[in-house]
Amino acid sequence: MIELDFSGKRALVMGVTNKRSLGWAIASKLRDAGAQLAFSYQGERLRGELEKLTAGWSDVRLYQVDVTRSDQLDHMFGDLRDRWGGLDHLVHAIAFAPRAAMDGRYIDTQRADWLAALEISAYSLVSIARRAEPLLAEDGSLVTLTYYAAEKVVPKYNVMGIAKSALEASVRYLAYDLGQRGIRINAVSAGPVKTVAARSIPGFMSMYKRAASMAPLGRNVTQDDVGNLGLFLLSPMAAGITGETVYVDAGFHVMGMDLATGS
Ligand code: NAP
Repeated sequence: MIELDFSGKRALVMGVTNKRSLGWAIASKLRDAGAQLAFSYQGERLRGELEKLTAGWSDVRLYQVDVTRSDQLDHMFGDLRDRWGGLDHLVHAIAFAPRAAMDGRYIDTQRADWLAALEISAYSLVSIARRAEPLLAEDGSLVTLTYYAAEKVVPKYNVMGIAKSALEASVRYLAYDLGQRGIRINAVSAGPVKTVAARSIPGFMSMYKRAASMAPLGRNVTQDDVGNLGLFLLSPMAAGITGETVYVDAGFHVMGMDLATGS
């Protein structure tokens, strides 16, 4: 197995709720590879969880940041500039849509819910990348997390699918802007994983079982699978890759149809 070395690298991971979070899947790989880490969390109640997860790490930094709050974003990036002098890697693992917008038909999505989902799940990447840009090293890299519902209809995913489409398009445009300084940005498109955010999607467990039964590998992906792809895309091994949406879904997205078994 190839060991990636992130020693001396400074990485900010945004969006860890607990050890099941996909942000944590990538963060723990970064840590194992030697990176110095900072985290942001939305609500004060999550600080304790992050403190537990990072117990014994001497150099970790924790920031409370709601991505709709410019003042909190400005404070975090200002503090990272003062304390670290720069940044090498950033992981954006944040999404939200009001429950009402995922329970019924997409056509019924209300304006405020649509705007909230797009602001938190897609625009946040743009505002974060803009603030990170002056701190990022010339070979710096970013990853965000997306899902297949950006390109195909997944019932109930509704406005979150539209937010993921905007997120993936933003990755391409940000790749162009940041590429002029050699900075890369990519999206990891993960198959369903049982996290807090995923479990709040109506019908998630049937989606989870169906994904495994249709996937060529006949299983769902693990946190480890997602962490490995995130680490690879952040690393110099992916030096020629930017603006991409890369799937880690046990092959689910290559299927056009499956056949009922037992007939
Ligand atoms: P998660 O552990 O619940 O992480 C989602 C994070 O987003 C939480 O930490 C949440 O904070 C944060 N967040 C929501 N609104 C925020 C705001 N206004 N400001 C700052 N942070 C905010 O779930 P996850 O599944 O790992 O999600 C991470 C990313 O992976 C998301 O983009 C998700 O769409 C994507 N993804 C997940 C799957 C899957 O099946 N799990 C598949 C493909 C892609 P709170 O806990 O405080 O709300």
